Amino acid sequence: MKHIKFRVSPYPPEIHVCSLDFPILTKLHLDPAHLPVDKSFLADSMPAQSKRGTDVVLIRLPEKYDEETLWHESIHAAAYLLDAVGASFGADSMDTVIYPTEYIVKTIKKRFYGIGKKGG
Ligand SMILES: [Zn+2]
Repeated sequence: MKHIKFRVSPYPPEIHVCSLDFPILTKLHLDPAHLPVDKSFLADSMPAQSKRGTDVVLIRLPEKYDEETLWHESIHAAAYLLDAVGASFGADSMDTVIYPTEYIVKTIKKRFYGIGKKGG
């Protein structure tokens, strides 16, 4: 059962990353109205809101590291960040989504999976 949180500057939403068995409703104080939680998925990501009204992007990942799943959910999460500020991206502005995606992947690899940490 794991959980980390971080932000991707300059985007306001808090990114919460947790394992699928993490009790998000009780521990993260999220508003259930925004959460179509379905345990049948192996991983998912979704925009959510805390009960205090804070914008949150929730990413749920398997405890075991899987490169493709991490990139898949990180791209979703980066798109939700852009959505939250009304930004869009297309073929002429792909870095707008690629930079936050890279930051999300790097942060989750290191802090959630402990990959690339000193001594790890
Ligand atoms: Zn997907």
